[in-house]
Amino acid sequence: MDNRLELLKKNCNEHGVKLTYQKLEIFREILKSKDHPSVEDIYNRVKVNMPTISIDTVYRTLNSFYSWGLISRVHILCEKARFDPNTDLHHHMLCIKCKKLWDFYWPEFYTIDIPKDVKEWGHIDGKFTEIRGTCNRCLSEEKQGQSVSKIIDR
Ligand SMILES: [Zn+2]
Ligand SMILES: [Zn+2]
Repeated sequence: MDNRLELLKKNCNEHGVKLTYQKLEIFREILKSKDHPSVEDIYNRVKVNMPTISIDTVYRTLNSFYSWGLISRVHILCEKARFDPNTDLHHHMLCIKCKKLWDFYWPEFYTIDIPKDVKEWGHIDGKFTEIRGTCNRCLSEEKQGQSVSKIIDR
């Protein structure tokens, strides 16, 4: 955590911006997050200690962090942007029920050759996979729900 704060300081210096209390709080909040929060999520959390902060500030700050490589952004089609303190190369599993995201690592994935069509299509900046499905927790809740409705049916 301290190393990452040092990195934040360094980046602010390099880009000629002040390391404000707001930036620091937003950064701390994203670092401790485990749920791949959206801009709104982060805004709601930092608002507790900084009631005057605007969502626009949070949005711009997160985008600076992202462009400086301090955090990453999760690419999910048709969903709003979510941010990620994990900057390692990793993939995500998305539960379509509870919308939670989990990180996973798949080193073998990078050894797979890109299909010919993709290579010919243009320049590739990155490759990520996304696994969609229903997590075990939602599955067991679903099962419980079914057995409850069975009892009611009788
Ligand atoms: Zn779930
Ligand atoms: Zn992640």
